Amino acid sequence: MPGKERGGAGTVIDADRKRLENIARLRKERRAVILAHNYQRPEIQDIADFVGDSLGLARQAAGVDAEVIVFCGVHFMAETSAIVNPDKVTLLPEPEAGCPLADTITPEGLITLKKLYPRAAVVTYVNSTAAVKAESDYCCTSGNAVQVVQAIDAPEIIFTPDKNLGRYVQKITGRELIIWEGCCPIHDNITTGMVLEQKRLHPSAPVVAHPECREEVLDLADEVASTSGMFKVIAEAGSDEIIVLTEAGMGYPLGKKFPATRLFFPQEEPLCPDMKLITLEKVERSLRDLEPRITVPEDIRLNALLAVERMLEIG
Ligand code: SF4
Repeated sequence: MPGKERGGAGTVIDADRKRLENIARLRKERRAVILAHNYQRPEIQDIADFVGDSLGLARQAAGVDAEVIVFCGVHFMAETSAIVNPDKVTLLPEPEAGCPLADTITPEGLITLKKLYPRAAVVTYVNSTAAVKAESDYCCTSGNAVQVVQAIDAPEIIFTPDKNLGRYVQKITGRELIIWEGCCPIHDNITTGMVLEQKRLHPSAPVVAHPECREEVLDLADEVASTSGMFKVIAEAGSDEIIVLTEAGMGYPLGKKFPATRLFFPQEEPLCPDMKLITLEKVERSLRDLEPRITVPEDIRLNALLAVERMLEIG
């Protein structure tokens, strides 16, 4: 037993190797693809077929020749994958992985707001449940929210559920929005003090911020970009260092793509606990048992899909 002779660390390494072999075998047997969000643990990103943002992943999955999608992210992302890929099995290896931002709005809450503004079109950020998307006219991502709002010809627009993204879109488009007061606690906790401290430590580094950050934080940024957009910003920045204001898991995919660029996050690292719940062990179990499955009732799925498709038509 070479693993035991080498002691604890060797045993752990052997166990990990065995797990990786099992995942590779099961992935083939199940005809599965593994998708991982940019904020997932590094070891999960390393086994994924695709790493990216939620909608980008769902769209990629739609074009993939596979029967099973293992979605390593949080619940609303797996739901979005199930909305777009009804003929495939969507698995979420940790069903408790949720999103406090998505939880700030319910379909009932949105229906009540719609009654107050009956002429309004509803734009809902992809970070929301399928049931909320089904009550919406358009979906949007942080990368295309401005474009979606600009394209809408309606007297009023309700924007849900992220108030920071809503205010940013309002500022850029100049359109008055009726904004739901939800937020992502991870991004909302980034303060101007944290940013100013990083700017003091790295005065030549440009700042890129995710639009889920507060307005006063975005005011300190040189660029505002979605997680996917951050790759483009860094590629074009021409700087060997950059201050990044988003969940710190983003350091892993950015570091792989730009090994020569020094990335600085706020000292009190923004970390989303829900995004760290999936482990290799859970992926292995999920592939073996084909559980836990994420399904969306067909009536909700079809209405939610309409909102997603309207967004895709815009661009
Ligand atoms: Fe939700 Fe924020 Fe976590 Fe993303 S980082 S899953 S928006 S709580």
